[in-house]
Amino acid sequence: MDEPKVLLMQPPIYDFALYDLFFKPYGLLRIGKWLQQNGYGISYLNALDWHDRASISALGRVRRSAHGTGKFFRVPADLPAHIPPIRKQYSRYGILPQSICAALKESRPDLVFITTGMTYWYEGVTEAVALVREQAPEAKVLLGGIYATLMAEHALQVTGADAVITGDGRQQLQEVLGSWGFPVPDGPIPLQPLLLDAAWEDAAGVLRLNTGCPLHCDYCASDLITPVFQRGDPHEGFELLMEMRRRFGIRHIGFYDDALLMHSDRVFKPFLELVIRSGLDWKFYTPNAVHIKLIDREVAELMSRSGFQEVRMGYESSSTEFHEAHDHKFDHGDLHRAVSLLKGAGFTRGSLPVYILAGLPGQSMRDVMGSVNAAGRAGLSASIAEFSPVPGTPAWELACEQSRYPIRTEPLFHNNSFQVTAWDGLTREDMQQLKLAARATRSQR
Ligand code: SF4
Repeated sequence: MDEPKVLLMQPPIYDFALYDLFFKPYGLLRIGKWLQQNGYGISYLNALDWHDRASISALGRVRRSAHGTGKFFRVPADLPAHIPPIRKQYSRYGILPQSICAALKESRPDLVFITTGMTYWYEGVTEAVALVREQAPEAKVLLGGIYATLMAEHALQVTGADAVITGDGRQQLQEVLGSWGFPVPDGPIPLQPLLLDAAWEDAAGVLRLNTGCPLHCDYCASDLITPVFQRGDPHEGFELLMEMRRRFGIRHIGFYDDALLMHSDRVFKPFLELVIRSGLDWKFYTPNAVHIKLIDREVAELMSRSGFQEVRMGYESSSTEFHEAHDHKFDHGDLHRAVSLLKGAGFTRGSLPVYILAGLPGQSMRDVMGSVNAAGRAGLSASIAEFSPVPGTPAWELACEQSRYPIRTEPLFHNNSFQVTAWDGLTREDMQQLKLAARATRSQR
């Protein structure tokens, strides 16, 4: 058989808000690298591409920052008829459907791999599958990623894809490709992504050193998506970083790690030593929070010297009971120790955001406000992370019990804009007040 042509695809997204904070389909590009190593021809279609000419002509340019973050094309959309409206505008984010069609026609793929993100983004996936069916009817369509892993049955029934791959999916992929008469890829799926021009010609890059997280917080999907934590290789990470710079001029990097500081003596610290030794100007960001407990003096100093613009931390709550019940992430006192080390290394309040979880089943306004105030007093910028129920986690069952919406059958309700766990102790109005209080910590001196 000739070299099979695979199209990797990032679908459009339907949501109430979407911002590009180092958004790249890392897992999909790792699969792409694996397939390329096994003789497949790879191309990429990014339905969120803010450079798309036809979309710029029709919708205008979108606002982007110099460090590669910013907005996407947005067109207001209707919620499906069975979803009760809320006071927020639902939108379709991404390039025009005709741009997707033109790219599909041009690439004439044998296989289309579509990545999926949040469970409540499945409408964009369904649209992408329908466009593939229309423009490339011979192509087989596979789904992978978070929604595909967490709700495989729903994805298979609703989207119209030919196959749904869960988790890392190496064996499933081998079986599916073999059964369709394609070459069966061999070897491990690489930890690093394929640096395709179409995916990386951007001001910002992303990097992941460690894969997964060894903790098991009861509200988080990390161990469902990546059941086994894998320690990264600092040299491989540094090579990838340098290649992104050489080929695309990228200097702004967002880390995708769920557990960046895990085994830092063997991974993160040696990586940062290499970065500092390069003598080059880098700007690093932590869109995923780091573990407070794992911040030590050396980590704080190396992060400051190597160009970290921020250190986001997963604080979640100031309550000891909360951490004992849900995540065992850190002990009392860890926060103050970490803040003092980071400030000693030169970080200021504005560069030290902490996420505070709000809306976990049974959580009260008083608890969350207490955490916001505690973060403010500790000299940090609080940011409210609104709870989204994740199928398969321990918190999911409680959310199902507390929710006014049918979250088991309709993933659109997993969107935190519906605040499915609202109750007398934490109402929608309370959530607005919490956001205002968090904002106030960001302007404190
Ligand atoms: S520490 Fe973070 S990534 Fe790890 S399980 Fe908890 S919430 Fe998830």
